[in-house]
Amino acid sequence: MLRRLVACLLPAVLISVACADGNDGRLDIYFIDVEGGAATLLVSPAGESILIDSGYPDNHGRDRDRIIDVARNVAGLSRIDHALVSHWHRDHYGNHAALAAAFGIETFWDRGIPEMLSEDAQFEDRIAAYRAATQNASCKLKAGDQIPFQSADTPFSARVLAASRQVVPNDGPVNPYADRHTPRDVDPTDNAASLAVVFEFGNFRFLCCGDLTWNVEGQLVTPNNPVGTVDVYMVTHHGLPTSNNPALVLAVDPTVTVMCNGPTKGGAESTLRTLHEIKSLQDMYQLHQNVKLDAGAQAPPEFIANTSSTATCQGQWVKASVAKDGRSYTMQIGREGRVRTYQTRVHN
Ligand SMILES: [Zn+2]
Repeated sequence: MLRRLVACLLPAVLISVACADGNDGRLDIYFIDVEGGAATLLVSPAGESILIDSGYPDNHGRDRDRIIDVARNVAGLSRIDHALVSHWHRDHYGNHAALAAAFGIETFWDRGIPEMLSEDAQFEDRIAAYRAATQNASCKLKAGDQIPFQSADTPFSARVLAASRQVVPNDGPVNPYADRHTPRDVDPTDNAASLAVVFEFGNFRFLCCGDLTWNVEGQLVTPNNPVGTVDVYMVTHHGLPTSNNPALVLAVDPTVTVMCNGPTKGGAESTLRTLHEIKSLQDMYQLHQNVKLDAGAQAPPEFIANTSSTATCQGQWVKASVAKDGRSYTMQIGREGRVRTYQTRVHN
């Protein structure tokens, strides 16, 4: 595996250098609004860029263009070095092929390509486009793999915690919230096979679990918690109630949450209730206001990036920017948004 990972990394030695923000030593994470899909862009101090998922296809290239706009005009990239696919649903790999053609992607990472996907009648066509874009050379990740990104002064790494329904060994301290996991019916969809990855930059930790669903979340953190605690948690599966098992969410105990929901997708009341229970939570951000839910149940208006309907939405992003030493980070909505500063916590 290691040899293959190294082979996967080799082309990325010729990394593109981020320049819009200057090479300021910070790790930047952009949560790009793709109307209820997911597209998260990390730019490391070494200038390496990592895009996790790529939003929906179609819609006149809406999500492709939003991703390129952030990558080129905000982050100052000239291409994507690493593109991950968390799982094989269209709101997560809808634009990998289009981005490879229009902007450039150096290395592709995924959980492995299944023969078929019963929940997607168009899977054959979609996956053919992906395979072509990757030249049949995407790198397959499994639970426990380290993705070997480059570090500058502060160590930067990523570890795969779950992939293809497998999770890392259940070591670590006892999870005090383990009894909050009540198993549900088995989820046969590809959501349950999502990649879950924890990124570390010095002491700062960011957890992104794609659309991982309830039972696998429970399996990951019961009875012990091998994940530890995190600073920023990307609310799983757009905030849908089939994910965000409290046994996981409360155990990782984030300071800040970011939910990549749409106006009518995700942001479920039960998920929001779980988020409100997090002991160390200071602020929760949403990419969208959930128009179907009472405002009082959601993040306060100043923490919601977009409030209009999809038809008129400007696609405002949320950004986390981690200080050079990893000891603090800021959160901001769009270029003009207020900058809020948080201290990286001491992780146990
Ligand atoms: Zn999704």
